[in-house]
Order: sequence, then structure tokens, then C-alpha cells
Amino acid sequence: MPFSSKQNPSTRYGLIVFLILTLFLCAIFFYIRNNKSQELRHDVNQLAQLREDYSQIDTCIVVLYNADNNCRLYAVTGEKMYIKQFLGNINFVSQTLDRINNRAQELEKLAPKNIKGLVDQKKIRTELYLKLRQLTDSLINVSSEIDTTHYGFKSNNGKELTYKQFKTMVSVDTIRKAVAAKPDKNLLGRLAEAFSKKKSKAKGADTTAKLVRTETKLDTSLQSRNFNKLQLQNMNNYFRNLYAANNMLKKNEVGILQLNNKIITEILSLLQDYKSKEKEFIARNKEELRHHIDGSFNSIDRIFSYSMALLFILVSAILYNLWRIYKNESELINYSQKASQYAISKSRFLANMSHEIRTPLNSVIGFSEQLSQGQLNEQQIEQVGAIRSSSVMLLDVVNDILDFSKYETGKVSFDKISFIPYDAITEVFNSIAIQATNKGVKLKNEIVFKKNYCFSGDSLRLKQVIMNLLSNAIKFTEVGSVTLKADIALNSKKQGVLKVQIIDTGIGIGPEDLDMIFDEFAQVYYSSTKIKQKGTGLGLAICKKIVEFQGGQIGVASQLGQGSTFSFEIPYDICPQSSVLENKNVNTTNAEWLEGKRILLADDNKMNILLAQTVLKKYKLVTDVAYDGKQAFALFEKNEYDLVLTDIQMPEMGGIELTRMIRSYAKPAKANIPILGVTANVLQEDRKKYIESGINNLVLKPFSEKELIDKIAEYIKRD
Ligand code: ADP
Repeated sequence: MPFSSKQNPSTRYGLIVFLILTLFLCAIFFYIRNNKSQELRHDVNQLAQLREDYSQIDTCIVVLYNADNNCRLYAVTGEKMYIKQFLGNINFVSQTLDRINNRAQELEKLAPKNIKGLVDQKKIRTELYLKLRQLTDSLINVSSEIDTTHYGFKSNNGKELTYKQFKTMVSVDTIRKAVAAKPDKNLLGRLAEAFSKKKSKAKGADTTAKLVRTETKLDTSLQSRNFNKLQLQNMNNYFRNLYAANNMLKKNEVGILQLNNKIITEILSLLQDYKSKEKEFIARNKEELRHHIDGSFNSIDRIFSYSMALLFILVSAILYNLWRIYKNESELINYSQKASQYAISKSRFLANMSHEIRTPLNSVIGFSEQLSQGQLNEQQIEQVGAIRSSSVMLLDVVNDILDFSKYETGKVSFDKISFIPYDAITEVFNSIAIQATNKGVKLKNEIVFKKNYCFSGDSLRLKQVIMNLLSNAIKFTEVGSVTLKADIALNSKKQGVLKVQIIDTGIGIGPEDLDMIFDEFAQVYYSSTKIKQKGTGLGLAICKKIVEFQGGQIGVASQLGQGSTFSFEIPYDICPQSSVLENKNVNTTNAEWLEGKRILLADDNKMNILLAQTVLKKYKLVTDVAYDGKQAFALFEKNEYDLVLTDIQMPEMGGIELTRMIRSYAKPAKANIPILGVTANVLQEDRKKYIESGINNLVLKPFSEKELIDKIAEYIKRD
């Protein structure tokens, strides 16, 4: 069978190892790719920063030109504002240079190790930077000197000279000479006029010099009062010193400004130099970075192609496995369908087999029962007893196999009929007591719950389990006792759990066998004892299924040579006691009223007819016989009957069809006649089907005399 689960497991392990390795490799590739892309990002950032540095040098140059301008303007105008701007410009240049230097150092730190030649560049850049630094510092110092000399001047002896200003109001009269005119007065007159100081206004022209304009001026250079000689000398000295200081100041200023210019020019040329070096550096740096970026791209490409190849293999492996899973699944579905078909066929086969075996068994058991009731000698009684017990054993085996096949296919349904658990357990106990007595084993009964408890469930199956466990206990106990313990634990008012224990002092079961004891066909091999195993090994497996199908559990505790304790518990619904069905069975010993009743017997098996007739005759029932459905229906139409007893499987027309025809008969009084079906088929679903067709009840083959008469008496009306 080419079922995949049978494939070599080493291939599967190999595949798992391969998948793990592939995943591992993928993780490594992912890690490398991540690193490479980080490097790439870093390189690109570096390129952008290089461009930024370059532009900053340009800005520096422009600002320096500006500073130079401000310096010149100061020299020309002497205005303080220009020197302030100049200082601002120089500070800006200084800060920018610092920034560039810091960035350059950072870049060198971050730069990939394999960039060669950058070390030399770095040296040159550092030297240039130091020079520039010194120059800008000296510029700042020089300009601050200009600032201080402008605001204060110190004399040689350290005393600050102060300048005094003398305010003198000077009036200037502009006099014009009088135009020569003929004097119209005589000498005396003119003298008198002179003494009186009156202006004589000559007609037509001035006789004296004329005052044209009077100006009043503020004169700061002149003393308004007279000084003595010493004072004048001191003043003279003071002004001389002042003049000399002023000259010196002017000279210094010019010198400083010249120095400034020189420094600025030097800085500018250095900056140009720096710029060209920077350009060179950037070009080399770019080249290196490009190489690095190319390398990173190449390795990312390589990693990508490896990853793709791995991914392809991985996906193929997954697809292949999926395909295999799908194939296995469809095979499994196929096999499970076949298995369920086999199981159905098996259960059908077993049902048919049991039917075929039960039918002759029915005759064997029935006739041996009838024979044993006749006049027999001792030997004959023994022989009939042997036939009967053998056929009963055979029936047990058939029932076991049939039961198990039903549970195996899950086609079981449990009755939900009210019953008294005390009665059910006692019934089993009593029926088996004879076996224990025969064997000399003490059988004890310890039922501790009240007699009037009522459960709703399948009492027959409960009896079957207890019977099985008790008969096993007696079978495997040579000396000692078998105790049946039963108790009920009430879960609620509606539910109770029946707990049963069967304890024996028998041979016990070894620990190695305990686990498999509930498996089908399991039997313990006792090499040391002379116990010969009888049975099918299905009893405990059936018990387990019955208990578990009803939601219960079963277990065993045992010690070899000490005995075993089988215990099980089943939950049941509690029902009101009034709902317990009264036993409808009629006491057949008082069934005289059946005398003379007419029964239509339909069965294709002559032996079965003979057996039924033998039983019915005993109760003086009148029978008509038909060997198939058609004959039976013809007799039904012709005669009046009290009950129809028909086999289910017959040639021409079966029991089901016959029932349908009777039920659809025109006369309702006749159509409602009680019909009992006889069958060896114990499958629940079949029984349901028979009842649904209109059959009142079923008599299961092989039936006992009591069972048959009880069923007939249940449906025939008393007069
Ligand atoms: P069987 O019909 O063969 O008895 P069972 O399923 O009832 O099948 O039992 C299976 C096996 O379990 C038995 O053959 C026996 O070996 C062991 N067994 C069952 N009950 C007992 C017990 N009370 N004491 C010892 N062994 C037991």
C-alpha cells in the first residue's frame, strides 16, 4: 500500500534539519544585509555633510570680506558701529571654524577604516586649522584693543587726563570805512559831537566808519580770563602732552588697522588654501565613499541573490510538503471512508451471521427446552441438558460478537426507561448466585442505598455489565468470596451516580496486564495455573464501552494472587418512582384465557414453525401456517385471527411488507390486528425500522417459551 506515512523517517528528519538550516541562513543573511544598509545610510549622510562643510568655508570667506570692509569704514569714519560689526564678523568666522573642525574630527571618527590617505589630509587640515585659529584669536585681541584705546587714554604717570572746555562768548563787529564825504560841520562842531558821543546824522552820507554786522560766537579755544605766567605754562604743557598722546593714538590705530588688514588678508589666503585642500579632501573622500557604497551594494546584491535562492528552495520544500500533506489527507479520507465501509460491512456481516446462527440456535434451544419437559430417562435428561448448555454458550458468544460490533461502529442507542436500580442489581445477583454456590465461592451482597430509588436509563445494559463482572469474578476465584457492593451518590435532586464494586479473592491480574485488560480480545495468559481460558476476551471491552457510552467510567485494581476489584460508576437521571413501568408481563401460568385464540404463523423455516407450534399448542392456541408473506396475507383476508406472528425475512414477501398490507386493509377492525415480528436481528436501527412499519412488538430469536407466550398474552385481548 503506497501510503506516505510508511516513507523513510530519515528523509523526513533530513527535511526538518534542512528547513532549520535554511531558516538559520536566512537569519544570518538578514543580519548582514541590515549591517550593510546601515553602512550605506551612513556613507550617504557623510556625503551630504561634506557638501555642507564646503559651503561653510565659502560663507567664512564672504564674512571675512565683510569684516575687512567694516574695518576700513571704521578707519575712515571712526564710528564705533563698524568696529562692533567687525568684531561680530570675526566671532562668526571663529565659531564656524570651530564647527568645521569638530565635524571633521567626527567624520574621521566615523569614517570607514579602509579609507586610506585621509590621515595625511587630516594632518594638513589640522595645521591649517591651528593657524587660522591663532589668526582669528589675534584679530579678536587687536580689535578689542582698538575698542579700549578709543574710549580712554592714560597719561604717562597713569593719571587719566581730562579735557576742560572754556566757553567764551565773542562778539565780532564788522566795520566798514566811511565813504569820503565833504564835512558839512566845522571843527568845533565835530569836537562837540565827539565829546557828546552823539552821532551826527549827516545828510546823505556817514561821516565815520560804519558798523555793518555784529556776530556773537562761542569760542572754546580761548581763555575767558587772564592767566598768570605759571598757569599758562602748565596749560601749555598739558596741551602739548595731549597733542602728543593724540598723535600716538592715531599712529597706533593706523598700525592696528594695518595689522588687521594684513591678518584678514592672511586668513583669506589661508581659507582659500583650506578650501582648495578641503575640495581635494572631499573629492578623495567622495571617491572612497563611492567605492565603499559600491562594495555595499554589491554585497547586498549578493545577499539578495542568496536569499532568493534559499527562499526558492524553502518555498519549493513547503509546496512539496503541502502537496504531500494534501495527498496524504486525501488518502486518509479515502482509507477512512473505506474503513467505515468495512466496519459497516463487518457489522452487516456479523448481523447476518448472527441471524443465520441464531435461527438454528433458536430451534436447538427451543427443542431442547421442550425435550427436557417430556418423559425422559436420566441419561436423556443429561444429554438434553448438555445440548441446551452448549447452545446457550454458543448463543453467548454470538451475542458478544454482535454486541461488540455494534459498539465498535458506534451504532448504539441506550433506552431511557424508568427502573429501580436495587431490583435490577438484586436480579442479577440472584441469577448468578447458583454459579457461585456450585463452585463453593461465597457470594456477598452489600447494596447500601434505598430500595425505592428510581433511575431513568438502560437497565438491561446495567445488568449486562454487572453480570459480566460477577461471572468473571466467580470464574477466576477458586477459594474465598465475591462481594458485590453498590451505592448511590446524589449529585443533585435530578441526578445520581450509581457506584458498583465487585471484589473477589481470586487469582488477580499482574500489573503488566492491567493496562490492556479492557482491550478487545484481551486475555491474561496464566502459565503457572491450570486455568484454561474460556470466552472471547470481549466481555470487559463491551463493559467499558457500555459504561463510557453512558458517560461513566470503569477501572480495576488488582494484585496477582490477592484478588481483583472491578469498579464502575454511571450517572443516571432520577425519576419519580410512580413512573416505573409496571411489569406488563402476564403470568403465563394463568394464561388459560388464551385457549382457543387463533394465531396466523408466517415463517419460511419449517423448524421455527414447528417450534412455535409446539409452544402454542401447549396453551391450546389455534394456529394457521403460511410459508411466505403472500400466503399469510391470503389467509388473513379469508379468516379472522386474534394475532399475527410473522418472521421478518421471508421469500416472496417479508414481514414488513405483510404488515404494511394488513395495516392498509379496507376494514379497520381487521387492519388493527396485533402483529408480532420474529427476528434474530438485534441491531437497534433495524428494530426501529420494523416498529415504524406498524409491527406492535418483536420477539427476538432465540426465544424461550415464556418470552413468546408473555408477548402473545400482552397483545391478545381478554374476552
Ligand atoms: P473473557 O470473555 O475471555 O472472560 P473478558 O473481557 O471478560 O473476556 O476478560 C478478559 C480477561 O481479563 C480474562 O481472560 C481474564 O484473564 C481477565 N480477568 C477478567 N476478570 C478477572 C478477574 N476478576 N480476576 C482475574 N482476571 C480477570
